[in-house]
Amino acid sequence: MNTISIEDKLAVNKFDIDKDVHIRIDEDICQTCNHHACIYVCPANCYKLSDGRITFSYEGCLECGSCNVACDKGAIDWTLPRPGFGICYQYG
Ligand code: SF4
Repeated sequence: MNTISIEDKLAVNKFDIDKDVHIRIDEDICQTCNHHACIYVCPANCYKLSDGRITFSYEGCLECGSCNVACDKGAIDWTLPRPGFGICYQYG
């Protein structure tokens, strides 16, 4: 049985990236967080921990909502992209 890597699965998706950012994080609140669950739940690796600070890039977001559920600090301002923008699954 062939297995497909996460990277290969993500590569068949297409993104129409909206210049209006649909998810924002409050980095000051993130600085107070002791678990950084967002890093572990995001299937697209949109969250990264670098030099003790969380960085976030919305462009590869799969719109799953996991980070919004996982963050118990209120650091994430989460919405879907505007209609017509965001991810198109299994495009390739
Ligand atoms: Fe990652 Fe899902 Fe949050 Fe998008 S909605 S940033 S894919 S966890």
